[in-house]
Amino acid sequence: MKKKITNWSNYPVVEANLLPFRYEDELRQLLNSQQEPLITRGNGRCYGDAALGPNILSSLPFNHILSFNEQQGIIHCEAGVMLDELLELIVPKGWFLPVTPGTSFITVGGAVASDVHGKNHHKDGSFSNHIVELELMNGVGEKVRCSREEKADLFAATCGGMGLTGVITKVKFRLKKVESSFINQRSVKAKNIDEIFGLFEQNEGYTYSVAWIDCLQKGKDLGRSVLMLGEHAKREELPNRQQMHPLKVPASKKVSIPFNFPSFTLNPLSVQAFNFAYYNKMLGNEKKDIVSYDPFFYPLDSVLHWNRMYGKKGFVQYQFVLPLEQSRQGLIEILEKINSRKMGSFLAVLKLFGEQESLISFPMRGYTLALDFPIVNGLFEFLDELDDVVMKYGGRIYLTKDARMKPEAFWKGYPNAQKWVDILKKYNPDQKFNSLLAQRLNIIS
Ligand SMILES: Cc1cc2nc3c(=O)[nH]c(=O)nc-3n(C[C@H](O)[C@H](O)[C@H](O)COP(=O)(O)OP(=O)(O)OC[C@H]3O[C@@H](n4cnc5c(N)ncnc54)[C@H](O)[C@@H]3O)c2cc1C
Repeated sequence: MKKKITNWSNYPVVEANLLPFRYEDELRQLLNSQQEPLITRGNGRCYGDAALGPNILSSLPFNHILSFNEQQGIIHCEAGVMLDELLELIVPKGWFLPVTPGTSFITVGGAVASDVHGKNHHKDGSFSNHIVELELMNGVGEKVRCSREEKADLFAATCGGMGLTGVITKVKFRLKKVESSFINQRSVKAKNIDEIFGLFEQNEGYTYSVAWIDCLQKGKDLGRSVLMLGEHAKREELPNRQQMHPLKVPASKKVSIPFNFPSFTLNPLSVQAFNFAYYNKMLGNEKKDIVSYDPFFYPLDSVLHWNRMYGKKGFVQYQFVLPLEQSRQGLIEILEKINSRKMGSFLAVLKLFGEQESLISFPMRGYTLALDFPIVNGLFEFLDELDDVVMKYGGRIYLTKDARMKPEAFWKGYPNAQKWVDILKKYNPDQKFNSLLAQRLNIIS
């Protein structure tokens, strides 16, 4: 029976068959019995249409931990395991995820397929840097193993490959050793874009860095922001009370938005009021504290269904990256456009990426900005204009967040796109794995 399915931004919504699998045999049967194209879905935390199609394989029930080497910090698990479940297992043993996005409610398969990045990209790269090996199931139900050494082309095309090389079934990856579950956090205010760029560059020695940017400021205040820096706290840095339980997993205290907000809730005035309050809640210019990993890495996870704040029509998350030398000029142009249209975004997150050598993953050395825009008349035309600026400066748009870019922007932004598509032809010859995103961008026609 068909169901209405959508991902995190509630746009687009599709009628699809949802096909969950718990065991490999079940998955093989589904693959052999289905003649129509399929796409795998983890927890649907990609914002747009990457995990959507008429037939969706759901990996969520396929979620067993296969092994955990506590001495070496290597975990082997099925692809439907969620990061929040992994944290509960590994943190008490003194390990942490090597790379984590801004939500823990994603699957390991989703982390590989989007090759996610975290606040430590400049130090540790993206998720795929830490993978030892992967196992996939191809369109005819055969298991295929790959890594940097074995079937390296398949490995490269799968990391960031948006589910188009097959179903990722098992992932073995390396964890990060930690002495505590706390983060030594330092927050610093920046008056404008030059200050925030300077702060990012001066603080590249920190493992974690990210800035919240007030995108409604203009003129000399353009780019006003708060930079958050962090390190895993050492045991001796913790206050006495926390030294008793340094590896404590924080208790889950979550509130929920029970229904879609009316569409007028978010408007330039409410965005302005939020931004004002956020910037000014920090009294001085700098603050230091020790916080649990939850509020540092996953501030939005404490509000379940926060996506409903954008109303029934949903929203678009627009994330782009610009090469380092072009970042300042490109960002100024984009922020000025947002300003002149009063298209402010509650969430506006800026990050400096490190170098990245990969086939199709999103990161490149330079600044990335992620913005949320509620869907209103004229939004898509406005985003096309932003795409033009991103393309002019040699940047690209993040596929996992996208639901509307035109094919030209994808093919221009990802210089290895043709190489990737050639590898897809080898491992997905009958185009069994296909998604709305792949069709929209002419990746699979
Ligand atoms: C609040 C929030 C914050 C975020 N912050 C970040 C961030 O900081 N950095 C970042 O990089 N991303 C971020 N994201 C995006 C998110 O990490 C990715 O979209 C991730 O891929 C979602 O994983 P999922 O399990 O929900 O997969 P889904 O959303 O279900 O699918 C995402 C893609 O992975 C494919 N896929 C999923 N499982 C498999 C599998 N087993 N085999 C093959 N393909 C598969 C799908 O086909 C699809 O192409 C954020 C998302 C949210 C909602």
